[in-house]
Amino acid sequence: MLCDAQPMLRRNAVECGTPTSEICPVCEDYEVAHVTYVFGPRLPAFGRCISTPGELERLDARKAHLTGYVVEVCAACGWNHLVRVTSLGRG
Ligand SMILES: [Zn+2]
Repeated sequence: MLCDAQPMLRRNAVECGTPTSEICPVCEDYEVAHVTYVFGPRLPAFGRCISTPGELERLDARKAHLTGYVVEVCAACGWNHLVRVTSLGRG
C-alpha cells in the first residue's frame, strides 16, 4: 500500500509531515518527517493526511472506529516506514 503511494507520500511529507531530527537511513542526507494518516468510514480510501493536531482530535471524537498510521517518510528519496498504528474514534 505505502509503496504504491510513494509520490503522494513524499508530497504529504512536505505538506503535512512533522519534521524529526532522524536522518533518512537510505540517502543519509535528509531528515525524515512523520506523516499521520487516518483511515475509516467517510474518509478517503487512501486515508486522510493529518496536518494539524486539532484535526486528529476531531477525528478521535467521532462515533466511528478509525485507524491511524504514523509513517516516517523521506521527502528526498521516498523511503517510508510504518512507525505505529493507533486506534481512534469512539465507535
Ligand atoms: Zn532518503
